[in-house]
Amino acid sequence: MSVATDKARVAMVEAIARRGGVRSCVLEAMRKVPRHELVPEWNRHLAYADRAISIGGGATMSQPYIVAFMTDAADVGPGARVLEIGTGSGYQAAVLAALGCEVYSVEVVPELANRAAADLARLGVDNVKVRLGDGHAGWAEAAPFDAVIVTAAPPELPQALAEQARPGGRLVIPMGGQDEPQTLRVFERVGGDLRVCKTLPVRFVPLTRG
Ligand code: SAH
Repeated sequence: MSVATDKARVAMVEAIARRGGVRSCVLEAMRKVPRHELVPEWNRHLAYADRAISIGGGATMSQPYIVAFMTDAADVGPGARVLEIGTGSGYQAAVLAALGCEVYSVEVVPELANRAAADLARLGVDNVKVRLGDGHAGWAEAAPFDAVIVTAAPPELPQALAEQARPGGRLVIPMGGQDEPQTLRVFERVGGDLRVCKTLPVRFVPLTRG
């Protein structure tokens, strides 16, 4: 890995740390993951910029701060089981993996699922499983999860995802249509209920029905 990418990554994480509210274990995980390795070549120069990046197939890698916020909000550590909907580049999954989580990630676009699985394998990440499919159904056989992180926005909460978070677990999900303001909601599952514990205005690609 080059000195330039190392420096850029340290600067990216320092900028997130300055904004505050993100636990040090999450910052440490983001310091470890070579984000540029998961950005397609044509946009690699943007890998450490404070912005979302187009990765093809109608998908975008979220802005680094949003990844930090969502990872922190999931409130997970080593050994936690996490479901991610929307594998995209595999970056969010790699950050969760660097935290020591067992990650189950579902992607609906075949090219993205294949590329992410290959990139994660190349980087030696062995605690992420990628499955091709419609994330609305979650990953029932691997449930319940300590946290569910959705990285594409549905207009309403998909019921299966709410059910696959364990009691006491977290559900982190952007919600809203494409022509209206979206809100990232962080829910804690309390028994059968979901209680909102944090929100943030966001902009995500739609969770498609496949
Ligand atoms: N977490 C990704 C960001 C992905 S952008 C990263 O770290 O790079 C949102 C992703 O959700 C896209 O890859 C898109 O193809 C995927 N997606 C959209 N609808 C989906 C669905 N119904 N099921 C699974 N994935 C979906």
